[in-house]
Parts: sequence; C-alpha cells; structure tokens
Amino acid sequence: MSSIELNHIVKKYGDGFPAINDVSLDIKDGEFVILVGPSGCGKSTLLRMIVGLEDITSGDMLINGKRVNDLAPRDRNLAMVFQNYALYPHLTVFENIAFPLRLQKGKHTNEEISAKVHEASEMLELDEHLDRKPANLSGGQRQRVAMGRAIVREADAFLFDEPLSNLDAKLRGQMRTEIARMQRRLGITTVYVTHDQIEAMTLGDKVAVLKKGVLQQVASPRELYEQPVNLFVAGFIGSPPMNFLPAQVDGATLKLPFVDVPVSGELAEKIKGHDVLIVGLRPEHLKDATVEQAPQHSVHFKAVVDQTEWLGNEQYAYIPYEAEGAVRQQLEELDRDLDGEGMRTQMIVNLDSRSRVLEGDEADLAFDPASMHVFDPHTGECLT
Ligand code: ATP
Repeated sequence: MSSIELNHIVKKYGDGFPAINDVSLDIKDGEFVILVGPSGCGKSTLLRMIVGLEDITSGDMLINGKRVNDLAPRDRNLAMVFQNYALYPHLTVFENIAFPLRLQKGKHTNEEISAKVHEASEMLELDEHLDRKPANLSGGQRQRVAMGRAIVREADAFLFDEPLSNLDAKLRGQMRTEIARMQRRLGITTVYVTHDQIEAMTLGDKVAVLKKGVLQQVASPRELYEQPVNLFVAGFIGSPPMNFLPAQVDGATLKLPFVDVPVSGELAEKIKGHDVLIVGLRPEHLKDATVEQAPQHSVHFKAVVDQTEWLGNEQYAYIPYEAEGAVRQQLEELDRDLDGEGMRTQMIVNLDSRSRVLEGDEADLAFDPASMHVFDPHTGECLT
C-alpha cells in the first residue's frame, strides 16, 4: 500500500513569495495523479517536495500515513523515473535494471538479483532485450528500463517530471500510451508532472490543476472538462479551447454577441444581480444546423465566418466578436495566466466534416443552452 497525502503544503523560496500556497491533495494507493499547469505554476516544486529534494516551508507530507517532512529522499522509497539520460550507456538493460540492487551491497545474492530483474523485465516486456545497451533501444523501451529500476527497488510510487517534453509529437504519443499501459498493469501509485493538457487528460485517474502555486481543481479528466470550476481550468483544459463570449444580462435573457438566449430555472436564479457575464461554449457544442441535427431546445443564429480550417475528419470555422470592459479585462488576465493562449475574441466552431461552410459565408449555427458554462467576469468563478 502506498498513499501520499499533502496537508496545507506551503513552499517559499528565498524571496518569500509562495511558489506553493496551501496545497492539500490526497493520492490513494495505485492512483495515477497528474499535476498540471502552465510554466512556473509550481508543479516541479511540488513533486520535488514529495520526493524530498526540496524542503517544505509549512504543512505536512504523509506517505502511508507517516509524516515524512524531515525524511531524506533515500528513506522515502519513492522513485523518480527519468528518461533515457539517466540510464548508463555502457551497461546492458539487465545491469541497468539491476543497478539499484547492486548498490545495496551484500544485501542480495546474484540469484536474487537475477530473479528480480527477470520478473521486472517480464512485466515490462523487456525480457528479449536484456543484453542490449540503451543506445540500441527505442525511446519507449528506454522508458521501461527506467521503470524497471524503480520496480526492482520495490519503490512505493513512481514520480515523473515532464518525461516526454523533449520528444517529437509522434514519439510523445507512443510513449504516452506506453506509460499509461504500464502504470495500469503494475498498479503502482504514480505522480506525473506535465504542462501538456493532452497528457493530463489521457493519463490521469485524477488531475490536479495548479495556477501560481494554488490548486484550482482536483478531479477526473471528464469532470474537469465538463464541470470546470473557473475560467482558468475551463481555458486550460480542452483543445481547441473553450470559447468565452461576453453576455449582457437582461432579466432572464443572456445577450450574446450573435444571439439572445432565454434562460430559466436554476440558471435564471444564478444570473440575477449580474450586469454582465462570460459564457463558455466548447467548439464542438456549436453545430452547423444545415448538416447536423441540433439538439432539442437549441438556439439558432447566423454569423459570418472569417476563416475556416479543414483537417479531413473535421473542420473549424472562426468567427470574430468584440469584448469590452470587465470581460475584456478578465480575458486578458486569462491570457497572461495561460502563457498567451487565453485571449481569443474569435469564436471557434468545430464543424462536422460534411459542412460546406466557406470563408465569408453566413453560417447557420445552433447550440443547446444546456451546454453553456456561465462565469462571473470579476472572479472568474463558474456559476453553473
Ligand atoms: P515549469 O513548467 O516551467 O518547469 P513549474 O510549474 O514546474 O514550471 P516550478 O519550477 O515549480 O514551476 O517553479 C514555481 C515557482 O517557483 C516559479 O515562480 C519559480 O521561478 C520559483 N522557483 C523554482 N525554483 C526556485 C528556486 N530554487 N529559488 C527561487 N525560486 C524558485
């Protein structure tokens, strides 16, 4: 059993500014947890605190229920899994995997070492490659050798820090599936740091989204996508990203740039007292009503398409709009928080491949109001 618990963890570096600010997170035995967020949000700092490479300013870190704040990294029994650069090029796969056991001098006989290496290499499908050197392995195989080392040590958990960030897109995709497959098979508690939301969405049982050292939301990938708690999470998760449209509130009507949307029930209650809101709509929830059946209760509108992109199996249409005042300010802030990927005053529509909409056309579009996410433009909080 290996659980990791973070209770109100704070990390201040020399300048006194909290790089990690009151983070609490529960990582259960066997869980695959992703720490994700833009550059500088504190992901690596948090991982380094778990492994013991960084002091904790305040709060408690527990492994299997035991406080480890003052425990040296070697006594925590966690394995940082580095990529190929941490393998010894002159040693075979066998010796690379056996390395941590050989370090524990006199603790294991040669027979024991051999048995452990064979057991690990079988689990990792490396048994045919035990005599090879790392240079003669694929990227995925090297990754598995690194995992093999952690397995023979019987580490309680795997910790990965952006292991795929230096790879090209194709290899990255392959390695991603490989890591997911191995982790499921081994069932070892895993904490994985990335700034890539695709890795976050495909690998994690649970994803923790960080912004400026503060945990924004911890949830399953699906929950993050369908129920983001604020603009930051909504803008970070999803590709192409969620559209954020200004909405004037007029009684029980939301006046969007292209269409008025009457709202009722719970949502009508929630928008009361607001002058202006931000409406979030995912690109795939906007339909070309001439080729796709819009869901019942959809609102229909027309808008002139500025640009289209055709990708074979799908296509995108871009439709500009204006944003002013508080909405513009909030979108500009989001842009800064998301490293320049948040400021979009053009609506992206993910069109069905059958759509024949061209640049300059007035498209017939529709969406179901139930797919709207409504945000407070002052706090960024999701009201729906
Ligand atoms: P990246 O994706 O760019 O690696 P990150 O999310 O992993 O970023 P960290 O490296 O954890 O972020 O850094 C979090 C914050 O702490 C940043 O503002 C960074 O400048 C600061 N920081 C990190 N290490 C130190 C250090 N040794 N001394 C002072 N400040 C530091």
